[in-house]
Amino acid sequence: MKRSLDLTADCTSCSALCCVVFAFDKSESFGIDKAACEVCPNLDDTDRCRIFDDRTELGFKGCIAYSCHGAGQRVTREVFKGDSWRDNPVLMAPMGAALSVMRRIHELLFLLDSAKLMSLSSEEMSALLALENLLDPETEWTESKLQKYPIDAVSVQVRKFLNSLQHHVTGRPTAHT
Ligand code: SF4
Repeated sequence: MKRSLDLTADCTSCSALCCVVFAFDKSESFGIDKAACEVCPNLDDTDRCRIFDDRTELGFKGCIAYSCHGAGQRVTREVFKGDSWRDNPVLMAPMGAALSVMRRIHELLFLLDSAKLMSLSSEEMSALLALENLLDPETEWTESKLQKYPIDAVSVQVRKFLNSLQHHVTGRPTAHT
């Protein structure tokens, strides 16, 4: 039986990847400029955000809006087997590269999961499950598999499929482009 996928971020099982690997610019969403692979100064030594409860007031509402949909803990636990950039800084760039792909995979899986709430026909459900299998193969993800994964092409396929479901929302036949 296929394992159930966790598409909810669990920061306690992650090595704070989103607070490290992504860049952000000082703006209304972020209080500071931060380069990619630079540790956010608000992150403490145990990978907890020092200002977690006050992020909106302190100008970090972009952190609240962001969700990795469970990609962070999967990169940490499954791909890097619990190793962290904190103990081995050399891992920072490869963990960042892995997260960039895994985050897109989990975002697409999240969208497909949401589509299951519609009254899909059996053909639509089969197509959805086939796409889910493409995004979530039985075997574990590795760095090398993520590097080779055709995320752009799969993303186009998923978005085309989701577009074909518009008639469930609008009540009108889907316009084909
Ligand atoms: S402000 Fe907190 S949640 Fe946002 S990136 Fe920094 S440590 Fe992470």
